[in-house]
Amino acid sequence: MAYAHPGQSDSLVRFAERYENFIGGKWVPPVHGEYLDDVSPVDGRPFTRVPRSSEADVDLAVTAAHDALPAWSATSPAERARVLLRIADRLEADLERLAVAESWENGKPVREALAADLPLAVDHFRYFASAVRTQEGSISPIERDLVAYHFREPLGVVAQIIPWNFPLLMTAWKLAPALAAGNCVVLKPAEQTPASVLLFVELVADLLPDGVVNVVNGYGPEAGKALARNPGVAKIAFTGETSTGQLIMQYAAENVLPVTLELGGKSPNIFLPDVLAADDEFAAKAVEGFVMFALNQGEVCTCPSRALVHESIWDEFLDRAVARTEELVLGDPLDPATQVGAQASDEQLRKILSYLALGREEGAEVLVGGGQRGVPGLAGGYYVEPTIFTGTNRMRIFQEEIFGPVVSVARFSDVDEAVRIANDTRYGLGAGVWTRDGGTAHRVARAVEAGRVWVNCYHAYPAHAAFGGYKRSGFGREGHVSTLAHYQQTKSVVVSYDPAPTGLF
Ligand code: NAD
Repeated sequence: MAYAHPGQSDSLVRFAERYENFIGGKWVPPVHGEYLDDVSPVDGRPFTRVPRSSEADVDLAVTAAHDALPAWSATSPAERARVLLRIADRLEADLERLAVAESWENGKPVREALAADLPLAVDHFRYFASAVRTQEGSISPIERDLVAYHFREPLGVVAQIIPWNFPLLMTAWKLAPALAAGNCVVLKPAEQTPASVLLFVELVADLLPDGVVNVVNGYGPEAGKALARNPGVAKIAFTGETSTGQLIMQYAAENVLPVTLELGGKSPNIFLPDVLAADDEFAAKAVEGFVMFALNQGEVCTCPSRALVHESIWDEFLDRAVARTEELVLGDPLDPATQVGAQASDEQLRKILSYLALGREEGAEVLVGGGQRGVPGLAGGYYVEPTIFTGTNRMRIFQEEIFGPVVSVARFSDVDEAVRIANDTRYGLGAGVWTRDGGTAHRVARAVEAGRVWVNCYHAYPAHAAFGGYKRSGFGREGHVSTLAHYQQTKSVVVSYDPAPTGLF
């Protein structure tokens, strides 16, 4: 049975009519008193309001973070780990409510939020609680009486700007390593999905000293830009579009800041000739891997939005892929039976529809889907049919990020050609390869230019595997102990215990 919608008396979630910014441990109204609507893509109606923040609000948040910094950065890794573990427990205990909230706000199927987004968010806090305790400094004996030792120190106040496709998981990916490393944070959620993040903050606020985490809401070119340009910030961690990432680098240059960027993608999913020859179970698994393009309605940076299928299995594999795609259940995201929910916003819906039209204009063939779909009782919602195009890699639908439940399929005749097509894109975020041949799997995985390659699986995001992009998909990694280095700076102390002067003067 579907979860009751927020607003219905038996819903697990009660959104406030209006939220404020979270600054210095308090809920603070925006300085200029302006708010923006938060619209649910499930039915296209506004359900709450959040601050439309300006530079003045960002200044307050950065100041509050600086006030908290001396005490928080002086805590031991063990103390910070305890806080992160408590956050994880709190999140886990309230997982169902948060999953419903996120599903309502973003349009993702609640089954995905329950099974993936929220458990992964919990695990990221647990993982970084442990990871920071494994870090050790180093001592370098330089000469007989000269030694250098190294500390990893927090950077200070870090700015974190996140997108709308995984509001809670992106929050966890950003906060967990930054806090574990001893930084204070000012986080800006996407204007499309702020309320899930604010519910999370409300839930864990008492576990954190005031000012350690601050949340400023608003539009990117207003609040986001002001945050990225604020001189009190020591680093910017950004996830979003490649074009916005380019702006972030320009802002960062003003204050000489380090940046990590998780940007867009056009990930190839490669199906080699043996995927159908092997046992039926493996063939079914490969077809399911293909259908992963519809996960989160395709609004995933690593969406396998290009499938490359060997010519020898082309007809049979695509017949099976089409049949499987036709079976996908599209509908009310709050129904646990729903596998494809709503696109996150009206803007996103229009963008996807324009690419569906473009694909046809370019001469691509539609094998299934291809249009908007109405869902009974949810007439204002933003629903798109999972769509399979066939065409060639030079088409724009193969080159540009659509960020919808759309896959563009091309054929290849040998492994080298598959790798060539896979790499023929400006992006380099994810990739998949499907084969029973271990040697070929390794060879392809190494040859594809992508920061994450899945072999015989797709869309797995364990906290202890580094995730990030090659090429225009960005730089820096998240979700691995190495991420801590992006939130730390190294202090070396060089000590002489030689009683004699150096002799230079
Ligand atoms: P977006 O770049 O429009 O917005 C992302 C965030 O940046 C939002 O919070 C937005 O308000 C803010 N922003 C926008 N303009 C800004 C500016 N001028 N200055 C500062 N902040 C600004 O991206 P989106 O449409 O929200 O998200 C979708 C994109 O995110 C896709 O391209 C997707 O591939 C990418 N993404 C990447 C990853 C990854 O890990 N690589 C993960 C999720 C999403």
